[in-house]
Amino acid sequence: MSHTTKLLPALAAFFLAGCMTAPAGAAPQRAVSQADVDKATEILGASVAFDTVAGRGRVPAYADYLAGVLKAGGFADEDIELVPLGETATLIATYHGKSAEAPIVLNAHMDVVEANPADWVRDPFRMETDGTYYYGRGVLDDKYGLTMLVTTLLRLKREGFVPSHDLILVLTGDEETTQKTAEAIAPRFRDARFVLNADAGGGTLGEDGTPHYYSLQAGEKTYADYEIVITNPGGHSSRPTGSNAIVDMAGVIERIAAYEFPVQTSEVTLGYFRESAKQTPGDLGEAMAKFAADPSDADAVARLSKEPEYIGQIRTTCVATLIDGGHAQNALPQHVSANVNCRIFPGVSPDSILQKLQELAGPGATVSLPLAAHSSDASPLDPTLMAAVRKAVDVEAPGVPVIPNMSAGATDSLFFRAQGIPSYGVCGIFMKPSDDFSHGLNERVPVASIPGALNYWHTLLTELSK
Ligand SMILES: [Zn+2]
Repeated sequence: MSHTTKLLPALAAFFLAGCMTAPAGAAPQRAVSQADVDKATEILGASVAFDTVAGRGRVPAYADYLAGVLKAGGFADEDIELVPLGETATLIATYHGKSAEAPIVLNAHMDVVEANPADWVRDPFRMETDGTYYYGRGVLDDKYGLTMLVTTLLRLKREGFVPSHDLILVLTGDEETTQKTAEAIAPRFRDARFVLNADAGGGTLGEDGTPHYYSLQAGEKTYADYEIVITNPGGHSSRPTGSNAIVDMAGVIERIAAYEFPVQTSEVTLGYFRESAKQTPGDLGEAMAKFAADPSDADAVARLSKEPEYIGQIRTTCVATLIDGGHAQNALPQHVSANVNCRIFPGVSPDSILQKLQELAGPGATVSLPLAAHSSDASPLDPTLMAAVRKAVDVEAPGVPVIPNMSAGATDSLFFRAQGIPSYGVCGIFMKPSDDFSHGLNERVPVASIPGALNYWHTLLTELSK
């Protein structure tokens, strides 16, 4: 997951982790062996030991390690490519299929968020366990998803499985920061059937360990920071001129706060509200059901708009987040700037939002978008993909709802979606919200989650490659 804050709806807030424990008692069709579980544990532990934090230049060394693991598992030298980019890199490994049909890209990221050892109970870059959890930076986000993908590919090789088309593992190297590796590599896979991203989506357990639902990420809002600037000749504060940049900025911010962007829907958000309605009691659940049936229902829109968790699921939102202005206690302000952070609905251009903000701000203010905002459309809910995810989820948690989800951005999927490649966050972990410490201190994953996640990926990849 990116460093940019992701405000997922409460129902799915813990998928921030990138990937998300298998409930005991699930009955996989092809139960994973203890040897594979041990292999995954070994790879996960070795992975955590590479401190792939931005700026330390450790991603290439980690990629070399992974290349070695893949080669030892049967990948040919020429099927593994390391694409350097600055201090980081992308690792691409091709698992050849029977035909030249459009390949499926399997995506995860090798980098991790910074971790200060002084703040952690344990060394963040040495995986440790208390028997219930594995601890370490990246043990969830995203080295868990990455490890489950790699271990599943090794298992499929050993089983002699030949997919109907190529499976291409694409491991990016800066997802948590600049996302340049995904941006650079995505165009190469324009012809892919779709991207399965291990960095988003996943299952949710109740606090009693019962599986509640599975979330599939199929869209992301666009993250954009707009700068609004108002300048003024200023003057001595003892001689007010009737014009004041701080007062003018206050008016601009009030107008933006009062403005409601139009209500929007997609197949993903309508499916999200339809399924979430069944899980949500009271008038809120009723509003979800009404909205899913009729997005123009004003009462339903008003009810959902009151909830910070859901307002972003029905429209673009923009809020003032920073303000800076004035230069002396006894001078009229000459310069005031404000940052307005927007989460833009998929399909809406960042430029059109800029125009709207400029219109609201008025001619006395200048609105700009200092850093390019990367936008992407939501991916269609492909029936074959949905059926395969259904089957893979049933291996872990039979019958739980599969709920499509639009996150507040951003994973590397956005760059693939921007190339027109449908991309889905389909991590294999089932986890309690209270177990998610990704990006934070003492990041952990349940030890018991590994067999279920391995069975999930094995089912998903074989179903999609028949
Ligand atoms: Zn991540």
